[in-house]
Amino acid sequence: METERVFENCVKCSEPKSDGPDCLNCGVIYAKAEAKHREDLGKIRIAREELFSEPHCENPVRQYTSSARINKQLAALGEFSIFFTKKEIKYLPNVLREDENVKALSSGLVDGNTWLIVVSDQRLLFLDKGMLYGLKQMEMNYEKVSAVSHSMGLLLASLIVSTSGGIKKIDSIPKNDAPKISNLISDLIRNTHKKDLPTTQNNNMDITSQLERLASLLERGLLTEEEFKTQKEKLLK
Ligand SMILES: [Zn+2]
Repeated sequence: METERVFENCVKCSEPKSDGPDCLNCGVIYAKAEAKHREDLGKIRIAREELFSEPHCENPVRQYTSSARINKQLAALGEFSIFFTKKEIKYLPNVLREDENVKALSSGLVDGNTWLIVVSDQRLLFLDKGMLYGLKQMEMNYEKVSAVSHSMGLLLASLIVSTSGGIKKIDSIPKNDAPKISNLISDLIRNTHKKDLPTTQNNNMDITSQLERLASLLERGLLTEEEFKTQKEKLLK
């Protein structure tokens, strides 16, 4: 049995706890916030156990790139990689292309399953190793992603990825990872959209919807004011 952890600081705002039942700084009721916090810790532990469990893949999978190349990239990631075991990492060469580079790793829940989240320089990848099947894979190319945002919970965070096909919400992401991977994905999609702005494609879109799209990109921080102005002028020419 694990001993129940005693919290000396508010689990929400991290300020030292006051004598009363609620936080004078952020207003949470300590007992309630701590119960939720413990529950989240339990979820993370279960999620990790699932991730680290032995893969049940009978058929040898084709390897696209060398383990050594991937291991070198993972070592360079530093703090992201601490969540993953060698067993997990061994899957990546089977999935990543030989010219693909890992920028960040994390884990999260999508539709009730725990996925390994891989942010590469080419795409956003989700890998799920179920107990009854082999490796499940989901990917989003940055060209298809219009925006990414995150929201913070007490311990876990959510990532919201908007694509042309709809919105995907990834829950239970370790809190420290969420802003980092969210910003990283923003940069990556921004670089992709820079090469691929509305004026060069979407001929079937009228100027109004193209302007709306530009405004939305600006609003989401995917375009700078200057880029927005340039593109807007091009559109209105
Ligand atoms: Zn507080």
